[in-house]
Amino acid sequence: MSETSRKPKYSDSKHLPIYRYKAKLIQAVEESTFLVVTGETGSGKTTQLPQYLYEAGFSRNGKIGVTQPRRVAAITVAQRVAQEMDCTLGKEVGYQVRFDDCTCQDTVVKYMTDGCLLREVLADPGLSQYSVIILDEVHERSLNTDILLGLLKNNFSNPSKATKGRSFPLKVVVMSATLETDKLSAFLSCCPVFAIPGRVFPVECTFGSAVKPKDVESTAYVKEVVKVALDVHTSELAGDILVFLTGQSEIERACDLLFEKAESIDYRYDVLDQTVEGLLILPLYGSMPTDQQRRIFQPPPPGIRKCVVATNIAATSLTINGIKYIVDSGFVKQLNHNSRVGMDVLEVVPISKSEAEQRAGRAGRTSSGKCFRIYTKEFWEKCMPEYTVPEIQRTSLTAVILTLKCLGIHDVIRFPYLDRPEERFILEALKQLYQFDAIDRRGRVTKLGELMVEFPLHPGLTRALLKAASVGCEELLLPVAAMLSVENIFIRPGDPDNQKEADKKHRALAAKTGGMNDFATLLSVFQSCKSSDRPSSWCKDNWIHWRALKSAFSVETQLREILLRLQQRKDFPVETFDGNKSELFRRCLCAGYFTNVARSSVGKVFCTMDGHGSMVHIHPSSSLFEQEVDLNWVIFHDVLVTSRIYIRTVCPIRYEWVKDLLPKLHEVDVYELSSVAREEVTDEEMMKWETREAAKRQQEVSTVDV
Ligand code: ADP
Ligand code: MG
Repeated sequence: MSETSRKPKYSDSKHLPIYRYKAKLIQAVEESTFLVVTGETGSGKTTQLPQYLYEAGFSRNGKIGVTQPRRVAAITVAQRVAQEMDCTLGKEVGYQVRFDDCTCQDTVVKYMTDGCLLREVLADPGLSQYSVIILDEVHERSLNTDILLGLLKNNFSNPSKATKGRSFPLKVVVMSATLETDKLSAFLSCCPVFAIPGRVFPVECTFGSAVKPKDVESTAYVKEVVKVALDVHTSELAGDILVFLTGQSEIERACDLLFEKAESIDYRYDVLDQTVEGLLILPLYGSMPTDQQRRIFQPPPPGIRKCVVATNIAATSLTINGIKYIVDSGFVKQLNHNSRVGMDVLEVVPISKSEAEQRAGRAGRTSSGKCFRIYTKEFWEKCMPEYTVPEIQRTSLTAVILTLKCLGIHDVIRFPYLDRPEERFILEALKQLYQFDAIDRRGRVTKLGELMVEFPLHPGLTRALLKAASVGCEELLLPVAAMLSVENIFIRPGDPDNQKEADKKHRALAAKTGGMNDFATLLSVFQSCKSSDRPSSWCKDNWIHWRALKSAFSVETQLREILLRLQQRKDFPVETFDGNKSELFRRCLCAGYFTNVARSSVGKVFCTMDGHGSMVHIHPSSSLFEQEVDLNWVIFHDVLVTSRIYIRTVCPIRYEWVKDLLPKLHEVDVYELSSVAREEVTDEEMMKWETREAAKRQQEVSTVDV
């Protein structure tokens, strides 16, 4: 393929704000090692800049890699760019996301998640296959992007690393929708900032009366959002609507309600704008099939108003043309470290004010627009923070700290973070890695840690899988790990009759394995479906999502490949075990889930054993929920926090299996673990730290006394 043969096919792209700056942008990239590019969302940064660099010949030295924090964005944008460049997706233009690699040897423009690039850094710290790395959506401040920023900065202050395996210097472009460009530039050795001027039109924002500060935990906002969207449809002039909600089930519910209500509209009398003759309702969320996602971008037929009901993905990652009205729920689903349970939990929380501005801005791209906030002014003032806290300051760092350690960065406390996480989060991560035997007492990566880092899974799940492999029963754990890595497999129909039917089928599936172990149910569903002659109809009969299972099959194969590769190593651990299969299975799970152990307290309430001592309940989706037997000790995969804390994917265990592991949760001296990072810490700092720790211990002791 000659380099000029892939000219953009779409003349549309010439109208994007970025187009006029093509030559200057190429020059800026040529002239600097780091470049910050900023511009309004929709100006063409993500889809166009990689193409400009390609046309300018940058791909002669290697691939042009573009990272995205979100999986869907990586896939959708790659599709679009492949179309614009008139090539097949997966050839010159491709994408890679966790468990889905759609690239080949000829791929020169590669879109990928930031997590995938981080894994590539592990295998090849100099990123020798790339000529340019574009970190996109940096304003989102995802954990992996923040770490990549630090690593790339580090590489350049350490020339031997930067040039390792390379014959030409790597170019790094950091793209952000407006926010924090000075801070980014200062972080990257005061590199130049290229601002793409763009015009924004005024957006008139109004507050509603529905969501008040007391409603922070309610889901009543779904109904309100639907009501407001219908009001807009009937009383505003033509123009498409974009509704922001938080996740799949909510979005599907809102779409159902919208369908239902829109049916009864009489277009002769009910609508203000008589050119509007119908409503096209389209959902948009992360795990949606990609062919459905494509419809989002197509203009609606004449006379039809499009209404897209989306997650935050439509705030900056994807731009939909034609949007004139925004309906903002004021909420977002976010992964936060929950100190009550000591785990990361997906929570629905109020968005920040800056996020709300960003959402509103989506209505003013090509003409003036309106944004209807369903929440009150009081909610805005009292419940919404100014800015969104970067992920690095609010989620577990266990996996990234292990990655850093494996990259030879021992001083994880003084790593160049754009925003420093609290030290206790770093120490917490070190503690967990120590508990999993991934690092030793001195904070150095163990052999097991080196194996663990190879799996794109939660360290606990990886630990369980490796334990299983060491005793030769990986066949039990590989499917489970795969099933826990895909979206929910059990269909939960909205209509009550179907729900009963689905519940019955799901209970029968659980009963096949004795009805006492949710992990075993996952294994059994996987195996039954796989061995069925007609797996898709098997799924249909059993109310299982066929698409999710298909992904699980593919994930299992990929995990198996990683494991096979690691098993070639001479030092791969081998252990023996005698006992029955059910026990073996659960003991392997314990090796990874002993941090998630709970002990029966009163009635059906359990108490976690990780030092938090939270009171937890078995979630109704668990097959143990209705069991009459007395359960003593259980392990669980994750928790759901509402007014109660629910544990999900549960299985009973025996105390003896975790007896030797549990003390590890308490014994460890975090100070010792970070000693490598602290070799140069002053005496004064050390004193302060020790006093603080002693005070904490004292406090813990007195709480126990009470
Ligand atoms: P930025 O990265 O600056 O926010 P993008 O490059 O994502 O801007 O978007 C530029 C234009 O490309 C927008 O008008 C957007 O609607 C369009 N676009 C992006 N992806 C698609 C797609 N999959 N289908 C149709 N249009 C798209
Ligand atoms: Mg973009």
